Amino acid sequence: MLTDYNFQELQIYVKKLGLPVFRAEQLYDAIYSAKTVDEISNLPKGLKEIIAPDYPNYEIFQSLKSKDGTIKFLIKFSDGNFVECVLMKYKYGYSICLSTQVGCRMGCKFCASTLGGLARNLTAGEILGQLLLVNRFLGGSRKERKITNVVLMGSGEPLDNYDNVIKFIHLVTASKGLNISERNISLSTCGLVDKIYDLADENLNITLTISLHATTDEKRSLIMPIANSYLIKDLIKACKDYYQKTKRKIYFEYTLIKGINDSKDDVVRLKNLLKDFMCHVNVIVLNNVAERSLQKTTRLEAYKFVDCLKEAGISATVRRTMGEDIEGACGQLRNKILSFNN
Ligand code: SAH
Repeated sequence: MLTDYNFQELQIYVKKLGLPVFRAEQLYDAIYSAKTVDEISNLPKGLKEIIAPDYPNYEIFQSLKSKDGTIKFLIKFSDGNFVECVLMKYKYGYSICLSTQVGCRMGCKFCASTLGGLARNLTAGEILGQLLLVNRFLGGSRKERKITNVVLMGSGEPLDNYDNVIKFIHLVTASKGLNISERNISLSTCGLVDKIYDLADENLNITLTISLHATTDEKRSLIMPIANSYLIKDLIKACKDYYQKTKRKIYFEYTLIKGINDSKDDVVRLKNLLKDFMCHVNVIVLNNVAERSLQKTTRLEAYKFVDCLKEAGISATVRRTMGEDIEGACGQLRNKILSFNN
């Protein structure tokens, strides 16, 4: 699919078809403005027919707007697969949360994305396509970028689709394309330690976010199967390496689950784990997922948890919940649509 190509690759594609090189510019513009083939006005009809099989035909299948302004999109790909992406409005502009896989094979107990397992990886162009479609939805185009921030926190595990995710980062930051700053991109992982070392060597200025969610290996493995493969101490070591190499502050996600990870002892252990490096803890109130039986901690308790961390000198905040009324948690909307269709 043509969205997978960077500009140079698009030029080669155009050349191979025996076309003049300016066609690459026209195609690039159409793709980055999320036009359909039919909407491209500066290509002859015969040519459109030739490129049509390679031209992206993903689409926004459905959108749901929350009372707080957050919009959740269900994106449909040409093979009939769906993923979700979420648009959030902040003071500084729009941020988009993108999916990296259809489903997920990580098996976290609180997450809706992983319920049906992994269907397939998304290509770099499909990860980018979500952003291009939503940019257009906001009235934007290649030359008019409406979205400034990207978080790879939708369905899927980005580091389990490593090569496509790295390629996506190169595509989305290309100055000729949407030119999004590396510094405005966050990648969230449940902690594939080997890949964190690889990522640190990519020379990218992106923010690494770790879904930690527990303070002992035993508790972590109760809710996150990845904890059976990697110890927390090795995960933290990899994060320190990432910080050493990139000088980017590490973010930790800590979703409070009643009776599992919200005790006073957890705060103490968290403090000991994170005490001597540049990081921030996002404490999250669990989004209820109907298919899961875990109980959430109240918002008030979440604030208390954060206060304890702050007293210990650790930077921490309770994450704003957005889009709760539109099945905001990962994978919830897709699951609903799939069960409607089955
Ligand atoms: N696989 C990656 C990215 C996807 S999950 C990762 O694990 O980081 C994105 C974030 O949402 C993670 O921090 C995840 O733990 C969190 N999350 C998933 N389901 C949730 C739920 N029901 N309530 C609150 N947070 C949830």
